[in-house]
Amino acid sequence: MLTVFSEAHRLHYGIELKDGLIARSFENPQRAETVLARVRATGLGDVIGERQYDRSHYVGAHSDRYVRFLETAWDEWSATGRTHDALPLVWPVRNLRDDIEPAFIDGKLGYYAMDAGSPIAAHTWEAVRASANVALTGMDVISAGARGAFALCRPPGHHAAHEYMGGYCYLNNAAIAAQRGLMQGAERVAVLDVDFHHGNGTQDIFYDRADAMFVSLHGDPSVSFPYFSGFADEQGSGDGLGFNANYPLPKGTDWLRYRDALADAGRRLAAYAPDVLVVSLGVDTFEGDPISHFALTTGDFVRLGEAIAVLGMPTLFVMEGGYMVDEIGTNAVNVLMGFEGRVG
Ligand SMILES: [Zn+2]
Repeated sequence: MLTVFSEAHRLHYGIELKDGLIARSFENPQRAETVLARVRATGLGDVIGERQYDRSHYVGAHSDRYVRFLETAWDEWSATGRTHDALPLVWPVRNLRDDIEPAFIDGKLGYYAMDAGSPIAAHTWEAVRASANVALTGMDVISAGARGAFALCRPPGHHAAHEYMGGYCYLNNAAIAAQRGLMQGAERVAVLDVDFHHGNGTQDIFYDRADAMFVSLHGDPSVSFPYFSGFADEQGSGDGLGFNANYPLPKGTDWLRYRDALADAGRRLAAYAPDVLVVSLGVDTFEGDPISHFALTTGDFVRLGEAIAVLGMPTLFVMEGGYMVDEIGTNAVNVLMGFEGRVG
């Protein structure tokens, strides 16, 4: 299986507001490097760099004005004399006005963010754009006929919605890739999200569409980030009604419980019969993950890959979360080895 990787991810490593403190982000460059090292150590396949794509490939999954915000945010922030990472401070919740885009960068940051987990620094946009281009390159590999490919994206993308960033995410790599699959001739695409956290951004982007199904297994949002999305009664709207499926699972979920939900998700996907499957591959479902609370073991990730392979769909794996850095490489590549029918 081909892996797509960009060294530009190293340009981005920010701060986050967590546990009442500002600290270095759990989402750090070593994550991608550990996965890359494991790809090479196992001989999974060749590693290629990303192709270049212009901003028009991001618009669709995202609004034009949101992409414009990401392109200009650092310049507007630093023009005020600040040299540290930009984070939002105020958000347009419930009855506050959300119909007027603020003119000043401090307002824009809150307008286009769901939380204080996606810092913007001088080179963030370069890394974000490269990560989306890694996913787009991966989709081109699939569209050219490959059975599977691995987009080793960083930063991740599945919390980024049509018009907001959050949860370490800026552009939604999986949705951007799925959108490209449709443009390249697929009639239907599906995204299966196996990250511990609900892929609220991907759900938001495809919620009212019938040409893209979104299926997510994740920690129960009543006790897990992102808290305000991911409940089982979110089933799509308009043309998209019936093409969104959430499987919120309790704390401590192990492989036996996970496997049952995955089997049900697989039946939905098989009935939909997409031309292309995108897997949002987060391995923060691992028992040792520092910010999540499922109990999958390293060996279980091989089973996960095998279960995805049984669906028999051309499959692009897009890297999302996973914060136990020592094990992220083994766990992520075990999914890919399972998919390929190789012992992890
Ligand atoms: Zn996650």
